[in-house]
Amino acid sequence: MLELSETQEMIRATVREFAEKEVAPKAAEIDRTQRFPVETFRRMAELGLLAIPLPEEYGGAGADYLSYVLAMEELARVCASTALTLAAHYSLGTWPIYGFGSEATKRRYIPDLAGGRKIGAYGLTEPNAGSDAGGTRTTAIRKGDRYILNGSKTFITNGTYADSFVVSAKSDPSAQGSRGISAFVLEKGWKGFTVQKGKEKLGMRGSDWAELYFQDVEVPVENRLAPEHQGFQVFMKTLDAGRISIGALGVGIAQGALEAATAHARERKAFGQPIGSFQAVGNMIADMATEVRAARLLVYSAAKLKDEGKPHTAEGAMAKLFSSEVAMRATHSAIQVYGGYGFVNEYPVERFYRDAKLCEIGEGTSEIQRIVIARHVLGRFEEGG
Ligand SMILES: Cc1cc2nc3c(=O)[nH]c(=O)nc-3n(C[C@H](O)[C@H](O)[C@H](O)COP(=O)(O)OP(=O)(O)OC[C@H]3O[C@@H](n4cnc5c(N)ncnc54)[C@H](O)[C@@H]3O)c2cc1C
Repeated sequence: MLELSETQEMIRATVREFAEKEVAPKAAEIDRTQRFPVETFRRMAELGLLAIPLPEEYGGAGADYLSYVLAMEELARVCASTALTLAAHYSLGTWPIYGFGSEATKRRYIPDLAGGRKIGAYGLTEPNAGSDAGGTRTTAIRKGDRYILNGSKTFITNGTYADSFVVSAKSDPSAQGSRGISAFVLEKGWKGFTVQKGKEKLGMRGSDWAELYFQDVEVPVENRLAPEHQGFQVFMKTLDAGRISIGALGVGIAQGALEAATAHARERKAFGQPIGSFQAVGNMIADMATEVRAARLLVYSAAKLKDEGKPHTAEGAMAKLFSSEVAMRATHSAIQVYGGYGFVNEYPVERFYRDAKLCEIGEGTSEIQRIVIARHVLGRFEEGG
């Protein structure tokens, strides 16, 4: 399973080199200053990393999903904020347009997003609708060939810098729950659409986020994705795939923590010996290495299912759930291996620890992943299964 094709190996090597030379040196600075590194985004575009699995005719790299997962892992190994920027841009801000847009809509938005001339974002979460995304209060009322949007979105990654936004809104206010929702592509600068930079974050501080406000925003009918009132599937299918990439984000963070802890355990001496020679420290390293490998296998196998066109909802949720928890445990242990030095921002492990927490929240919390997995295993009770 860990055997990669030549193309996959090449993509991994290219991203590793880029990550080590150009992303890692900025990771601490963008975390400290909460700066979104636009220049890194442009470089990712030059390297063809912004739409790895999309066909070349739309500006993508024409590779597979596993290749994208490898790129995510390599970026997260040195800078999780940069990896999250890519995930929000590709998995959330670009893929739904490719998966559900008309040919004209795809041609209008995707080449610019894939080429990095535009930045993408995804607005599902609202102040009162996160896990319960079907509880969206933003409305889209149809008036002839337009919809009039009113409402707001919160925690939207890339929001301050994004040019296009895939957004959910209730187009049939009389429908219950997740029914009656439609999906739309909105553009920055449209009348009544305002963006406000988000609050200071615990982690992922080099990734941008924002609040979105819609006041009588006119959206042309052709900017709707999927049939009217059937937009919820756009967001759920997007998350099915996106969660695999968040799994890769967790694996990358955990790998970075493992490597840092290993190097420190070899160099740091106590009682006249490298601390790695103490069994208690060795056990932490052994557990980290074992869990990282298991998480990686789950993530790659979910990506492979997706590449083969097979169902991957539960497997993607398992990959995300497990990798997120592995990232939390690995970064926690890495700080322990560093001792007091793990507590200061001179070393990357405290950043890894703060960044890892996002994996247990974004694109569905760990509690929601367990619901998805349990439903898959148990079947839906109301269906008698
Ligand atoms: C850094 C960051 C970036 C993000 N980027 C984006 C983005 O780009 N676009 C976007 O749309 N959103 C984004 N989000 C939002 C994210 O998807 C939501 O925060 C997440 O889905 C949880 O929703 P909530 O914050 O409303 O929490 P809530 O839904 O209020 O959950 C609070 C707690 O209750 C638990 N809970 C809720 N319902 C259940 C249940 N049925 N069973 C068991 N437990 C339950 C949750 O697991 C959690 O522990 C981002 C969040 C973060 C932190």
